[in-house]
Amino acid sequence: MEEKMKAALKYDKALLQSKELYQYILDTSVYPNEPEPLKELREVSASHPRYWMGTEPDAGQLLAIILKLLNAKRTIEIGVFTGYSLLLTALTIPEDGKIIAIDVDHKAYEMGLPTIKKAGVEHKVDFIDSEALPLLEDLMENLDNEGSFDFAFVYADKVNYLIYHERLMKLVKVGGLVIYDNTLWRGTVAMPEHAVGENYKEGRKLLIEFNHLIANDGHVQICHASIGDGMTICR
Ligand code: SAH
Repeated sequence: MEEKMKAALKYDKALLQSKELYQYILDTSVYPNEPEPLKELREVSASHPRYWMGTEPDAGQLLAIILKLLNAKRTIEIGVFTGYSLLLTALTIPEDGKIIAIDVDHKAYEMGLPTIKKAGVEHKVDFIDSEALPLLEDLMENLDNEGSFDFAFVYADKVNYLIYHERLMKLVKVGGLVIYDNTLWRGTVAMPEHAVGENYKEGRKLLIEFNHLIANDGHVQICHASIGDGMTICR
């Protein structure tokens, strides 16, 4: 029976198979609705040598709707870069909301900071220039933080994703969400190792392991969305 069902799920049922279709989504639904400050932040970030690291605006749209549905107020962001997802979160959560935003790259954050200030949401951001793991450990030392966050967005070093998951399961409340980004790693997770460029090999291996473990973690409900570079939404 299962084999029959597998056979019926043809790969071509997945719609997004052309650049034109992606462009169509951006032009029709994403760009016309993207808040001005986020557009500005994308422009500012375009001159960064690693501009491609920023969250894609269509993925941002999904993030925003999730934050709204959750009524998220206290959030954690691991991996800020120039701040696209950070600004998006700050624009979405309420006036008295707070984001603990962690990144080792203060310079990239400073590139986006004037736009965050101009948008009038800097007071919601607590940027911490630190390695994420020790910072999460610090947060956990204060028992008041346990189960106190509504949401976390993880987009940083893949080698620590599983440890972040473990820590975040304690910090984020039951019924809250964690989103892990880059979980399809430019599609390399489904490629044979020999076909993958050197730069992607390590990440591919780590993400295959992460995807497997999280898919089999009975404590969480997941949705592996093929948006952006792959986003695993985890409840
Ligand atoms: N969410 C961002 C993109 C983050 S890119 C956006 O929407 O634009 C990944 C970031 O993770 C980089 O800025 C990098 O400095 C940071 N990073 C990588 N490893 C880290 C670590 N161990 N601790 C904290 N930040 C880290």
